[in-house]
Amino acid sequence: MQQPSSKNKTLKINEIFYSLQGEGKYAGKAAVFVRLSGCSEGCPWCDTKYAHTVNAELTPQQILAEIAPCGAKTVVITGGEPTEQDITPLIDLLHKDNFEIHLETNGSKDIDTTNIFCTTVSPKTHTLEEMLKKANVIKVIIDDDITPQKLLNYKKYLNENTELYLQPEGNKQENIEKCLKIIKQNPSLKLSLQLHKLINIR
Ligand code: SF4
Repeated sequence: MQQPSSKNKTLKINEIFYSLQGEGKYAGKAAVFVRLSGCSEGCPWCDTKYAHTVNAELTPQQILAEIAPCGAKTVVITGGEPTEQDITPLIDLLHKDNFEIHLETNGSKDIDTTNIFCTTVSPKTHTLEEMLKKANVIKVIIDDDITPQKLLNYKKYLNENTELYLQPEGNKQENIEKCLKIIKQNPSLKLSLQLHKLINIR
């Protein structure tokens, strides 16, 4: 039996929806979200555990057909962990169609980011140094476990193309206080709130 070429291979999708970016450097920007299913990292406080469910299996062309009618030319590829599937054909297709591609990843797979407008790496246990070097945004979740030393290690990746954001886990007040304290001591860092949770949108 003939195997589908990689550009026609399906991706496991949890959801595709049109909304506003809620986090990080482009918070407030209208974008279509493509949430891929699955993540093997297993963070205890993960707020996208529902992304383990596969609701559709779509080729890049079928994904493009869902995105196009939304009108926005910004696409956020997220998860779960999107790089656990082969997203290169999807990125190539969207790039060819002049989409501004944003990728949200834990950085555990070293992928080609040439055609990606903004790569946001949120460091976790298996994050690769190569991906921290390629990141445009490093978004560190601030919870009980983060140590100041671990956090400040990420500062070495800051440059004119890379910003470092602190995001309080769950928008919790105690984590917000921690972020504020660290940012005031390290003014090159910035705060990222989960805006979509504050204004109750997806
Ligand atoms: S890396 Fe992200 S998606 Fe994966 S378990 Fe952790 S928080 Fe959830």
